[in-house]
Amino acid sequence: MKTLSFPGLVAIALFVNASQSVAQEWKSGVEWQEPPLVTPGATDNAPPSDAVVLFDGRNLDAWENGDKWLIENGVATANQSAITTRQRFGDIQLHLEWSAPTEIRGEGQGRGNSGCYLMGLYEVQILDSFRNQTYFDGQAGSIYKQTPPLANAMRKPGEWNTYQIIFNAPQFRGNGDVNRPAYVTLIQNGILLLNNFELHGPTSYTEAPHYKPHAETGPISLQFHGDAVRFRNIWLRELKPAVGRRVSPPFNLPMPPKPGESGTGSQKPADEAQPGKSGNTNSQTDAKPTTAGSKN
Ligand code: MG
Repeated sequence: MKTLSFPGLVAIALFVNASQSVAQEWKSGVEWQEPPLVTPGATDNAPPSDAVVLFDGRNLDAWENGDKWLIENGVATANQSAITTRQRFGDIQLHLEWSAPTEIRGEGQGRGNSGCYLMGLYEVQILDSFRNQTYFDGQAGSIYKQTPPLANAMRKPGEWNTYQIIFNAPQFRGNGDVNRPAYVTLIQNGILLLNNFELHGPTSYTEAPHYKPHAETGPISLQFHGDAVRFRNIWLRELKPAVGRRVSPPFNLPMPPKPGESGTGSQKPADEAQPGKSGNTNSQTDAKPTTAGSKN
């Protein structure tokens, strides 16, 4: 077997080292639309400029059966029946604040029980889980009977809890099969309780979860479970994916010519590349064209 001479190895090492030391900027080949401007609220709990406000302390007109709940001092108290939004939603970022009754009554599932039903089907549990034992996949922040939360982040009865819920609605194929299951992320009082949890289907007290095809949007429902759970400051944002258009495969920018040279680099620039030949096939980038540039 022939081996390379020492000078040969040195030459290869120098060549590799030289080629690695030349940094050429990498470009994705996707022209992204400019993200929409959203003006934040005065605080992170206040609705931003693009929010759909579902309860601002004045009335529950956005909800069916909202007239059955009691409203006082900007706070709505669960009463008589569940309430359900008139409007329907798909992927959302939902903010709500809730408080278990100050006076402790009952125990386990019978203490401070409500729930936030996404699309009217998928319950993020609301329960007074402050020093209150119950089955773990039924405590506050659980997906009811599917997973416990990653932590118990409860404040005391009577104090206010914040839920930030990010929900991705399930998608179904034409034949009814699940194309994408639903996912939920939940942060309670700044603490992550559900980390992009994949739902197994609708939550139920009596049935194992299994998906049944349904519309792309659905209402949000707040449960009445016999307990005077209080709510305030409820709003959401409808989520839309970033939009871009692939205009070329990914590429590195050409090397600038050295003084006195007229050549170009070895990499193809965007206008020489052939779109669609390779690279990211993320459906977000197959959407409508954009006029946005590709500046950093
Ligand atoms: Mg409940």
